[in-house]
Amino acid sequence: MSDFDFAKKALKTRREELAARVSSIDMTLQAPLSADFEEQAGDLEGQEQLEGLEVAALKEIVAIDAALGRIAAGTYGICVKCGEAIAPKRLEAVPTATTCVACKD
Ligand SMILES: [Zn+2]
Repeated sequence: MSDFDFAKKALKTRREELAARVSSIDMTLQAPLSADFEEQAGDLEGQEQLEGLEVAALKEIVAIDAALGRIAAGTYGICVKCGEAIAPKRLEAVPTATTCVACKD
């Protein structure tokens, strides 16, 4: 058992949620537009919002995969800027964090 098992579990659970969200957004986006032009305008507006959500979800998946990679490589929990250990509380709140509180933007 490594110290980061809790993070690994949280990351994997979150990744599954995001993957499910992305695939449901994809399905919605693939649905045909309404026949009515006025409704089409609304559809397109909704599509833009969905695309924004999808991009955000995909970005988070990339960050999660990177975090899982760092766990596997044994570099997880180490600030990429100063090399100090990231506080466990920060990792609990933000499991994909790559910097300590002092170095975060
Ligand atoms: Zn730092």
